[in-house]
Amino acid sequence: MKRTEIIAVGSELLLGEITNTNARYLSEQLSKYGLSVLYHVVVGDNQERLRATFEQARSRSEFVIVTGGLGPTADDITKTTLAEVLGRPLIRDEASLETIHRFVASRGREPNEGDARQADVLTGAEVLTNPVGLAPGMWIEDEPTWLLLPGVPWEMKAIVDATFPEKFGGMTIVSESLRFYEIGESALDAAVVDLMTGSNPTVAPYAESGEARLRISARADTETVAREMIERVKQDILARVGHYYFGSDEDTLAARLIHELQARKATLSIAESLTGGQAQAMLTAVPGASSVFKGGVVTYSDELKNRFLGVSLDTIDSHSVVSKEVAFEMILGLTRQTGTDYGLAFTGEAGPTSNSGQPVGKVFIGIRSPDGIDVIERDYPHQERHVIQARATKDGMWALLQ
Ligand code: ATP
Ligand code: MG
Repeated sequence: MKRTEIIAVGSELLLGEITNTNARYLSEQLSKYGLSVLYHVVVGDNQERLRATFEQARSRSEFVIVTGGLGPTADDITKTTLAEVLGRPLIRDEASLETIHRFVASRGREPNEGDARQADVLTGAEVLTNPVGLAPGMWIEDEPTWLLLPGVPWEMKAIVDATFPEKFGGMTIVSESLRFYEIGESALDAAVVDLMTGSNPTVAPYAESGEARLRISARADTETVAREMIERVKQDILARVGHYYFGSDEDTLAARLIHELQARKATLSIAESLTGGQAQAMLTAVPGASSVFKGGVVTYSDELKNRFLGVSLDTIDSHSVVSKEVAFEMILGLTRQTGTDYGLAFTGEAGPTSNSGQPVGKVFIGIRSPDGIDVIERDYPHQERHVIQARATKDGMWALLQ
C-alpha cells in the first residue's frame, strides 16, 4: 500500500479552532511503517464537499484514512456520505451495539438512537474496536482501502496503535531523533539528502525554534536489529554533520553543556538581563547541574548591573545597555565575584519596542572560558520576544561548547 491520503473532517479545523494534530500523528506513524503520505486534506462537515473529497481520494490514492465525524450528532456525516459513495449501506454492528449499551447503562441512562447510530458500520467493513470511546473504527478493503477513525485524538490513537502493527507487519519499530544546533534546516537537508529516500530505515527532517532534527526510524524483527540499523545511519550522519549534533530525543543543549563541563571538571556561573533567568532555569532543570553550575544573578536594571556586577553607569550611558562593552563588564564582574571557570552574560533588546536604542533582536553575550573573555553579537530581527530570549540562551550555551 503506497499512495496514502489523510482526510480530516470537521469545520472546526477550517475555522482554526483546533489544529489538525490527527494528521500529524497519522503521518508520523505511517512514515515509520514506510508508507508515503501524499496528501493531507481538511474538509468541513458538508455533505457535498465531503462527497467530492471522497471521490477525489478514490481517484488518486491507494489507501485513504478519514478522521472525524463518526459520532452521534447531526454534523457527523462521514459514514453516511462514504456509504453512498462506495455503495455500501450502513448496517448496525451487534458487538459494537452491545458495548455501547453496556457503557450507557454503566452511566445509569437508557441508550437512545444517537448512541445506537455509533454502532452503524459500512457493509463489509472490518470493525475496529474503540477501547476508549463509543464509535468504532472501520477498515474497508475496497479500491482504495479505507480506514475510518474517530476524530477525538486519543480514540484515534488507540485504534491506530492497535491496528497498524497488525496490518503493516508485526515488526518492531524503533526511532531516534538526532538534534542539531546552528546548522540550518536546509544545510542539514542538503548534507543528508541521499539518506532520505530510503524506506527502512527512514530519515526525516524537522525544525523547531533554532534547532534542526533528523528522525531515524527502523523496522526489524527485533529491537536489537532495529537499533543496529539506526546506529549505522546515525554514524553515517554524524560523520557528515556531527559538529552540530548535541544529543538525541529528549537531550537538551543545557544537559549537553552540563555534561561537557562535568567531564572537564569545570564550573559555571551566569549573569542575565535579557533572558531574565531562563538560562539558569534551563541549566538547573538538568539533574546533577549542581556539580557544575554555581549560580548567578538576574540584573535587569542598570542600577543592579552596576551594584552587583560593577558595570559602570558611564559605560551604559555612552554605549547603550545593549552593547558589547556592557556584556564585557557584566561577564568580567560576574566571574570576578564567582570565580568560575566558565561564565555567560546576556544583554539584549527583546522588544517589541526598543528601550535601549538598539534594534529589536540585537543581543550581546559575554563569554568567559579558560581562554579569556569574549563577547559575541547576535541579531534575531523580526522575532518575537520569547524567541529572541530562547535563541540567545541557546546560542550562549552553544558558544561555550565550541
Ligand atoms: P464524537 O463522537 O466526539 O463526535 P467524532 O468521531 O464525530 O467524535 P468529531 O466530532 O469530528 O469526531 O471530533 C470530535 C473532537 O475531536 C473535535 O471537537 C476535536 O476536538 C477533536 N478532533 C477532531 N478532528 C481532529 C483532528 N483532525 N485533529 C485534532 N483533533 C481533532
Ligand atoms: Mg462528532
